[in-house]
Order: sequence, then structure tokens, then C-alpha cells
Amino acid sequence: METTQLEAVKQALAVAGSSRLGLLLLHVQRRRQIQAHLGLQLSERLQGMLAERLQQVLRPDDRVLTGALDTEIMVLLPDLLSPGHAQMAALRILREFDQPVEIEGHTVLLGLTIGLAIAPDHALAGEELARAALLALDEAEREGQRFAMAVAGTASGLRVEDLRRALLENEMTLAFQPQLDLRSGQIVAVEALARWDHPELGDIAPELFIGMAERMGLSTELTRWSLNAALREHAQLRRQMPELGCAVNLSPKIFGQSGLIEQILGALRLWDLPPRMLTVEVTETAVLEDADYSGWVLAQLHAAGVDISIDDFGRGYSSFSYFKHFPARELKIDQLFVTQVAADESDLRIVRSMIELAHNLGMRALAEGVEDAQALRLLTEMGCDRAQGFHIGRPRPVGAGLEGWSPVPSGSESASASESISYPP
Ligand code: C2E
Ligand code: CA
Ligand code: CA
Repeated sequence: METTQLEAVKQALAVAGSSRLGLLLLHVQRRRQIQAHLGLQLSERLQGMLAERLQQVLRPDDRVLTGALDTEIMVLLPDLLSPGHAQMAALRILREFDQPVEIEGHTVLLGLTIGLAIAPDHALAGEELARAALLALDEAEREGQRFAMAVAGTASGLRVEDLRRALLENEMTLAFQPQLDLRSGQIVAVEALARWDHPELGDIAPELFIGMAERMGLSTELTRWSLNAALREHAQLRRQMPELGCAVNLSPKIFGQSGLIEQILGALRLWDLPPRMLTVEVTETAVLEDADYSGWVLAQLHAAGVDISIDDFGRGYSSFSYFKHFPARELKIDQLFVTQVAADESDLRIVRSMIELAHNLGMRALAEGVEDAQALRLLTEMGCDRAQGFHIGRPRPVGAGLEGWSPVPSGSESASASESISYPP
């Protein structure tokens, strides 16, 4: 960090008064290779382009401050309503730069890591805030994560004890988001999504506490909790809709643990759900870390009748070795390609190919991130099997009931219900 950047932090803090100020530090992992590859001049242009694109995914009042080529990029987020909003900003940035960027005929993949610190949650003064963000960045890099939140003093804003307590004492809740069958126009399943409303910090983004659970060795507890809570609450929904399926996310770190299969099958028996009505969603990282073992686990689950869905397809490096390693029933097309499908011709082509790919491999295609009627119509026309997204229904607690989910919403009213975190607000 440079002195000018530090000065900017101090000024922003002075202006912020008692409101929350977030500080993101962005590190380009592949900076050296990129500089060597592009040369100094183009690298500088790249830095400028990066700053512009950052500004586009942020709110108008957020400030991007780049320094010399080899310093971290800094982003100031004034007037945050909760730490969750800063997390969302970080995730937006990561998503935006998941894909390689083009500059003068060169294609470069940046590989971003982000450290986040918030005043007054993690630090009060400028230098302290900057240091907290740097430490968070260090931690993310050390742990091979793409994002980490700061540590206040030595205790993190979010403490492991908090997470453990939340899991054991039911401080966490679940939201269910509907999945629509595009042929019948019926809601056929729901995905269970974890929610954590921390007593002091407010809503915490799932990506953050799930990452934390993984780092802190709490994945087993998290999976146990989310499976049981999902099946228990889903049983309530099934009273109204007996054929409603349930999709549960499996945490990447879970595959190394023994007893996973028994745990899942046990939960199914306990809540009396036929295996065919459960879908487990897995991501690329989960599967590819230890492809042989996780493949074996998934094959066992498949043999027991559980469906397997490949989540976030297209987001990472989506290698075809997925399909060699285990029998998946569903390809879940990442929202990255779906949200803009009506506006962006190349997204449309990609989505069409992914639907075809799924069908060629004997899988159904599910598109997530359907945010408007036009996208829904296009997906139906392209023969996509299922869809999920704000236009069809936002994630909601079971207590909210099924009203408004079925039949298919015709306008955009269904997308207006408030969700726990939106960014920008
Ligand atoms: P995911 O599995 O890809 O879940 C979909 C995410 O997209 C959810 O975010 C959902 O709220 C959001 N979403 C749904 N429809 C739309 C839409 O139309 N537009 C946009 N922009 N977003 C939409 P959420 O709930 O914040 O969850 C984030 C991630 O956290 C999930 O991504 C999943 O990877 C993880 N996660 C959530 N709950 C659990 C859990 O119980 N266990 C595990 N292992 N992971 C979980
Ligand atoms: Ca999922
Ligand atoms: Ca997904």
C-alpha cells in the first residue's frame, strides 16, 4: 500500500463519521507473469482498464484507488449498512474477474485475491484498518482462498466460536428457493440455502461462513446441520406438495470425511424422504480436489438413488473430467451466463451449448439466475428443463409457505420480494 492510498483511507474515515466504511485490498496473483507477458506499457493500460471495470460493478460512491503497478488495488466502500454488503461487493468483483480479460488481442486471467476490513467493526483508525485488510489478504493467500475478512485485534470479526454456536444452537436458518419445470410449468423442487443472521454483525454472506466452516474444520457440522435442517423443513413443504424434490449443497471439504454416505442415507430415513427426491449439488472444486475418492462417494449415492447435480457449471475451468468420474443427473448452468441471456448474444450461445451438452450426456439442464420473463422464455424455447432465479422465486424461509411460487409468475412481481442481502442496496 502506498502513502497516497493510506491518506485516502484516513480521509474517507474522517468523512465516514460513525457510518461503516469497508476497505477491500485486491491482489492480482499473476501480476508478475502478466507484466512479463504484456510489457510495462500494456500492463499500465490493463491496470487502468481494471479500475474502470471495478467501478462499473460497484456503487457510484465506492472508490477505486490504484497505485504503482506492483501495489495492491484498493477499494473504499462508504456507508455500508452491514458487513454483508461489503462481502457482496467482494464477491461481485471476484465473479466479474473470474473470466479472462482481453487487452489488445491478449487474453489474461488475473487470479484475484481479496482482503476485507471494515471500520468500526475491525479497526477504528486508518492505519489499523489498512493493516487489518492486509492481514486478511495474507490469510486468504495462505489458505488458498480467494477472499478473507479481517481480524479485529487477534479475534476475527466473525469468530469460530460464533460459527460453532450458531450451528449447534440453531442460530442459522434455511431459505428455500423454487426450481421450475419448464415443460409442465410446475415447481418441482426447492434448493435449501443457509442463512446466518449474526446477533452483532447482521446477515453474513453464505460464501463467507461456509468458507470459514471449511477453513476451521467445521464442514462436518455444517453438512450435518444443513442436511437435517433441509430435510426437516422440506418435510413440511411436502405436506402440501408430496412430489416436491429437495436440493442440498455439499461443501467441498466434506468429501474427505468418512461416513458421508451413511450420514446422507441416515438423514433420508430419518425424515422419510425417498432418495430419488433428493439432489445433492456439488461444485467442480469439490469434485476435482480428490476426483477418485469423491467420484466413488458420488457413485455410491447415485446407486442409492440420490440425484447428483453439477453446480455452478461454467464458472470455474469446467473440465470434462467431471463426466468421466461420476454419474450426474443434472447440469446446473451458472448464473454468470444466465442473468444476461436475453441481452447478450454470446451468453445465449453458451447457454444453448450447455443445454445441448447436458442432453447429449443424458442429463437435464437447469439454468440458475433467471431474473426476468424474457430469460425464462428463451430458456424454455431452447429446451432447458428447469429454471431457478429471482424471477421465479426468491429464497424464502419455509414459514413463508408456497404461495406465489406456483403457478409460474407472469410478471416481475415475484422478483420484488426483499431478500436478506442485496448489493447495491
Ligand atoms: P449456489 O449454490 O450457487 O446458490 C445460488 C445463489 O444464487 C444463492 O445465493 C441464491 O440466493 C442466489 N440466487 C438465486 N437466484 C438468483 C437470481 O436470480 N439472481 C441472482 N443474482 N442470484 C440468485 P446464496 O444464498 O447467497 O448462496 C451462496 C452460495 O453459498 C451458494 O451458491 C452455495 O454455494 C453456498 N451455500 C448456501 N447454502 C449452503 C449450505 O447449506 N451448504 C453449503 N455447503 N453451501 C451453501
Ligand atoms: Ca447450489
Ligand atoms: Ca449455483
